[in-house]
Amino acid sequence: MTALQKIASRVSVSIDEYERMAAADAGLCLLCETPAEEIEPDATRLICPACGARMVFGAEALLLMGVVKASPLDNDPIFRQNNEGEE
Ligand SMILES: [Zn+2]
Repeated sequence: MTALQKIASRVSVSIDEYERMAAADAGLCLLCETPAEEIEPDATRLICPACGARMVFGAEALLLMGVVKASPLDNDPIFRQNNEGEE
C-alpha cells in the first residue's frame, strides 16, 4: 500500500456525497477533507487551498481511489424505516 492509498483509506465519502460532487464538479482534499469546488472530476493531486498539500482529488478520482463507500446505514432496514418520508 502506498502512502497515498494509506491516506485515502482513512477518508470515507458516501455515495450521495459522491454524486453531489460529480454533478457539481467538486472534489475533496484527502488530507484535511476540505471540499474543493470547480475542479475536473478526474483531477488528481491539486494543491489544497486550506492545507497546501497536493491532495485534492476530483469526484471520479476519489471513486478510483476507493474513497467512495456505501454507508452501513444505507443497508440498515431500521434506519430506512425511521427515515421514510422525510424527503
Ligand atoms: Zn487540505
